[in-house]
Order: sequence, then C-alpha cells, then structure tokens
Amino acid sequence: MTRNEFDLIRDYFARQPVKRRDVALGIGDDCALVEVPEGCQLVVTTDTLVEGTHFLPTASASDVAHKALASNLSDLAAMGAMPAWCSLALTLPEPDDAWVAGFCQGFAALAEHFQVQLIGGDTTRGPKSITITLHGHVPKGQALTRAGAKPGDWIFVTGTLGESQAGLDYILGKTVVDKARATTLINRHYRAQPRVTAGQALRGIASAAIDISDGLHADLTHILTASGVGAKVDVAQLPLSEALLADQASDEQAQKLALTSGEEYELCFTVPELHRGTLDTALKHSGVSVQCIGQITGNHRLELVADNQPLDWVLSGWAHFKEPHRDGS
Ligand code: ADP
Ligand code: MG
Repeated sequence: MTRNEFDLIRDYFARQPVKRRDVALGIGDDCALVEVPEGCQLVVTTDTLVEGTHFLPTASASDVAHKALASNLSDLAAMGAMPAWCSLALTLPEPDDAWVAGFCQGFAALAEHFQVQLIGGDTTRGPKSITITLHGHVPKGQALTRAGAKPGDWIFVTGTLGESQAGLDYILGKTVVDKARATTLINRHYRAQPRVTAGQALRGIASAAIDISDGLHADLTHILTASGVGAKVDVAQLPLSEALLADQASDEQAQKLALTSGEEYELCFTVPELHRGTLDTALKHSGVSVQCIGQITGNHRLELVADNQPLDWVLSGWAHFKEPHRDGS
C-alpha cells in the first residue's frame, strides 16, 4: 500500500515527547502495553470534542488540543487518580499540516506537564472531531466517587467559577470587555488547568468529588443523586474572580453564571467535619485555593440561600454553545 497523507499524520503523532518507563510498547504496533503499578486500579475516561458543538471552527488547533486533553485530565482529577497514558482518535476532513502541527504543540505542552504519554490512536477522514481516552491509576479502593457525601459534610469548590462561560460569551461577541479582562476570560475558556494535584491530595479526605464540566449546579446535583442526599449552598460564598465581577452587571448575575458555567474544570467535593482541619495542609502543594460554599443536608434538595434567606432562582443549564448563525443571536 502506498503511504498517504494520513500515514504522515500518524508518523507525526509517533514523535511525541513524553516517554514513560511503565510503557512497555507505545505507538506503532496493533496495541500498546503498559504496566499498572502493583496495588493500583486502572482508571479510564474518554471525551470527544466535535467541531461546531464542543469547539468553534475559529478555535486554534493548539487550544482545541489543550481542551481535549484537559477535559480528560479533569475527569481523572475528580477521581483522585494519577494520569499516565492516553490514546487519540482524530478525525479530519482532510490532512492539514498546519492544523496538526498546532494541535501537537498544544497537546504536547499539557501532556508533558502531567507526564502523560500518547500510546496509540486512530486517524480517519470525516467531520473534524477529537476523542481522547485517558488512562491513569489510583491505589486500590481509594478513588473518589460521586457517591459518599453524608449530611453534615462541607461542600467545597476549587479556584473561581463563571469565567469559562464569560469567556465564551465574549468570544461569541455577546459581551464587550476591556482587553486585559478579555485575555483572562478567553484563557479561562480555552486553557483551563485541570486540578490533578488537588484531586490526588483529596484522597482520604473528601467523601465525594466531581469535576465541573456541566456547571456547578448540575454537577453538585450529580453528587447529591449518587449519594442520596441534599445540599444547602450559600451563593454569597461562591468564589468569583475580579475579572468576572467587573464583567457582570450585578453580583447576582455573576453568582448565577458561577452556578451554571460549564467547562470550568474545577473540582466540587465534600469533606466530613472530621477531615476539615486537614484540608488546607493537604492542598498546600497543589497551588489551588478552595472555598466552602455550603453543607450537605438530608432532605434530597439543592437549596440556594443568600445570608440564610432562601432563593427561588431559575437557572439555565449549560449547553456548550450554539453557533451565532444557528440560533440567530
Ligand atoms: P491499525 O490499522 O493496526 O489500527 P493504524 O495504521 O491505525 O494501525 O495505526 C498505526 C499505529 O499508529 C498504531 O500503533 C496506532 O495506535 C498509532 N496511531 C494512529 N493514529 C494515531 C493518532 N492519531 N495518535 C496516536 N497514535 C496513532
Ligand atoms: Mg487503526
């Protein structure tokens, strides 16, 4: 068979920088072979990004690569796992050297940071989409899950919330923001930093965890459902950045955005009173701030309060984005 341009793309991916000692066989054979550390469980997650649904056609290849890997890393972070190996299924309408080069650059930067080795994949022709399957490991029985939150546990989130949506709104031309803030918001949308170190530090401390990909309100609800509990969240405690507060018309609007903004890739987790005192020490080396936003209850509802007054906010869900020409806005 003659070598076609897609073969060249495969070769391109074979030249990637991370080489782990636990990879017995990487790219090039029919399958890869890896060594899972003794006493650990294999942790596996997959995410697909489709052009026009999960990223704008105008997004740079490097940003798309970052987002594709970051969303998978964030899932592993939420389980308290250590990322190790990934495979990449890439579908392109046509071979595009410049795009692939940009993609590899964005991919390699994040993969190197977390020492994730690309060990295989597939390259096909079709509408542009990226599927990454990320593998990692966690000491047996110690993974954090969505189930396990108990009434009385404190609810925390990492970082700040709302800027991913604010960044997307700006990119879509829905808002006007000054240049310095625009850069911050765009970076938060395209260049989220998955909380991998924090997730691992939470093992043995958090009773449940999830990463915020659909919005805090929706993702906390997943914890409540899986754990069979409720929650009371004080919106005045939501961590909001200067950039977001300056961008939004009112504190209430910023708080609503913090509750619904998806693709934040921050962690939401619950901590029993017993472990609350050890949280700061455990997270010291993760470089991440955490904020207590409320408490788990026994009543199976997610109540929003401000200074103990109940709120009856109706929140819109996160639905990626609609291209401007499709929804007419
Ligand atoms: P096969 O037909 O046996 O699946 P391929 O020609 O699709 O083999 O791939 C050859 C090798 O290149 C395999 O090891 C595969 O894992 C790897 N590969 C193909 N596409 C990619 C990609 N996009 N990223 C990383 N590795 C890839
Ligand atoms: Mg193949």
